[in-house]
Amino acid sequence: MSDTEFSTDQTDKTEQLRARLLDWFYRDRRNLPWRGEISPYRVWISEVMLQQTQVVTVIPYYERFLEAFPTLTDLALASLDDVLKVWEGLGYYARARNLHNAARKMVEKWDGDLPDNYVDLLSLPGFGHYTAGAVASIAFGEVVPAVDGNVKRVIARLFAIESSVKQGEGAVQVQNIATELVDPQQPGDWTETLIEFGALICLPRSPRCPDCPVQDLCQARQRGLENTLPVRASKKPLPHYDVTAAVIRRPDDDERLLIAQRPPDGMLGGLWEFPGGKRQLDESLPECLRREIREELGVEIEVGEPLVTVKHSYTHFKITLYAYHCRLVSGDPQALQVADWRWVTLAELDTYAFPRTDEKIIKALHQ
Ligand code: SF4
Repeated sequence: MSDTEFSTDQTDKTEQLRARLLDWFYRDRRNLPWRGEISPYRVWISEVMLQQTQVVTVIPYYERFLEAFPTLTDLALASLDDVLKVWEGLGYYARARNLHNAARKMVEKWDGDLPDNYVDLLSLPGFGHYTAGAVASIAFGEVVPAVDGNVKRVIARLFAIESSVKQGEGAVQVQNIATELVDPQQPGDWTETLIEFGALICLPRSPRCPDCPVQDLCQARQRGLENTLPVRASKKPLPHYDVTAAVIRRPDDDERLLIAQRPPDGMLGGLWEFPGGKRQLDESLPECLRREIREELGVEIEVGEPLVTVKHSYTHFKITLYAYHCRLVSGDPQALQVADWRWVTLAELDTYAFPRTDEKIIKALHQ
């Protein structure tokens, strides 16, 4: 086969893939609150929320977020505490901090609008290649790809890429194919099509090949590789840590509990919590708690009865969190290794944003 014949075949396949997948999308797409949305601000919020999070989980958060911050300027003018409170429970809190930070930069530099192109979007906090590509194509019609894990999987199967698509040569191959595939007439619809196709038909496990509109063009299907591609690296078990948390009552008013705010940078930054931390080797749980509270807040406590034990998995590790009732023995709290601290009543806890683990401690306190 000559180069010309090869490239004609490829062009033909690209056109067929675009036409059939777009047809499928226009016919079978789900009716989602952000679908058909042309407000760049709304496109951006939905794309950020959908990273690492299922559609059904996102819908109520998306609606609540837009009610609280209807415009980009409203978001920029809000306090980070208010943004985190609305985000509470959605996880991956760096996304909320980056949204807030990026909104402020857009007000400073772009008069309260999103910049209308991939390169400028990519310069903002929280915009990686995927988010910049998705917003640029969906909201501004720029002919750029948006490659996330779903799109990598779909392309790995359609083109039978047998090396890892997460990095190296396989990742470059996916990026090149994704760039070639973007429909120049409807780049935004094309971005949504690939995402929807990965979510409804070319599923991570057990792809629905008999219902697939491009099964005759799919090289993985033709070679019986649809259930083995993309190749998966064997997963190492996640490390596990024991973590403690203290529910400390104020000596002169035992209705008030001590909460601390995590430093703004780093994991769960800016959220409030019952203070405590990771157990060190050969340390008992009460010893760990006394040390952590001394280091973080400069006070001495007496550790009492256990309150609740919470198991939780994060992306890179798992924890078992042991919460204890505690009493302040000496000292006044100081923000040594925390951003801030407060004495609050059980009812007032509702106005602060907590991670999911601490929400379970609050639930136990209400019982
Ligand atoms: S035939 Fe199967 S594996 Fe191939 S694209 Fe369609 S759903 Fe995915």
